[in-house]
Amino acid sequence: MPDSSPWRDQFPCFSEDDFPIYFDSAATSQKPLSVIQAMDQVWRSGLANVHRASYRLASKSTEQFESARATVAQFIKAKPEEIIFSKGTTEAINLAAQLLENQFQPGDLIALSVMEHHANLVPWQQLAKRKQLKLCWIELNKNNQLDMQCWQQILEQRPKLVAISHISNAIGSINPIEKIISDAKKINAITLIDAAQSITHLPIDVKKLDCDFLAFSGHKLFGPTGIGALYGRYQLLEQLPPVQFGGEMIRQVCRDYSEFQNPPFRFEPGTPNIAGALGMASAINWLKSQNQPAIEHWQQQLAELCREKLTAIDGVSALTPNTGSIQAFAITGVHTADIAMILDEQNIALRSGHHCAMPLIESLGLAGCLRVSIGPYNTANEINALAEALEQAMELLAE
Ligand code: PMP
Repeated sequence: MPDSSPWRDQFPCFSEDDFPIYFDSAATSQKPLSVIQAMDQVWRSGLANVHRASYRLASKSTEQFESARATVAQFIKAKPEEIIFSKGTTEAINLAAQLLENQFQPGDLIALSVMEHHANLVPWQQLAKRKQLKLCWIELNKNNQLDMQCWQQILEQRPKLVAISHISNAIGSINPIEKIISDAKKINAITLIDAAQSITHLPIDVKKLDCDFLAFSGHKLFGPTGIGALYGRYQLLEQLPPVQFGGEMIRQVCRDYSEFQNPPFRFEPGTPNIAGALGMASAINWLKSQNQPAIEHWQQQLAELCREKLTAIDGVSALTPNTGSIQAFAITGVHTADIAMILDEQNIALRSGHHCAMPLIESLGLAGCLRVSIGPYNTANEINALAEALEQAMELLAE
């Protein structure tokens, strides 16, 4: 493998003095110059609010905003009217839970997997509390993948909603969502996919998947923070009433009643994150302009190297059942938080702990794990430096 990444030079942060060896791209990715420039240009060229005024600058801003929606839609093979802009995955899933509030009867079941990020768990837990619903869990098999026998048993109980992550942010398992969605459809369950991690790594076609909802964030996709999207199947969105109210989502307001716009506008009250939407679209355009299979291949090679080097260290074992960009490790005898702190002193940035997936870490019987998440800018030299620093840290902590 070559020493330097073909993509690294496009990311200005790596020329900053003292910028760390960055292995936390699953938390947020660094931004390429083209996205930074596009965001800068948004402010330099001036903006008007969208969907309101008829003067030319306002029409231009509305056109740019709606064109960003079309770019996001096209990226996952959706229609523009099926994309609701949100702050990110968390807000998108919370919105879906609110939108679905009246679809449930007391006693209905919601199926989740034990590896969900808290963002795809707590909103359903809260909904279950409000509506007296029950949560049921697809457990892990011994390879840290979803236990499909457990899923079959859950299916027999006919859950009303199935909400599953595509790729686990904590241990990197890639879930068989195609099978889960098609099984769920047979019992008329509503399906939601948390694509926060997969959106960067796997091609997503919502029409082929046939899911009802899919949520993701711009900032893990080389775009800005504070913007994301909820995809909703249009026939379903059409049947759902709005849950937040205000300007722009209405068709007409009288003193004692209001009429609402069609989706997606009735779910986007108030001034949206216009610059964020344009930034997310420019990040998608950046990604599309690169050789995506080559990026994935690069990251997989690094992931394989990472696995090989780190598991060669005494007390380190791999938790991830594949060679995707998220590689998680269990460490015996030491606290992973101590390791991450020592590595930070060596200017290596990675995550330790529960990774916002406490039930998962508990079911693995661990207190936490070490997560190396790889981006296109990482290099083999960085993996070698990590392995060396980890070995030293383990020796230090064993003393
Ligand atoms: N789900 C998964 C699988 C994630 O990895 C994350 C981010 N770590 C989220 C949801 C929440 O995303 P955000 O913080 O951008 O809302």
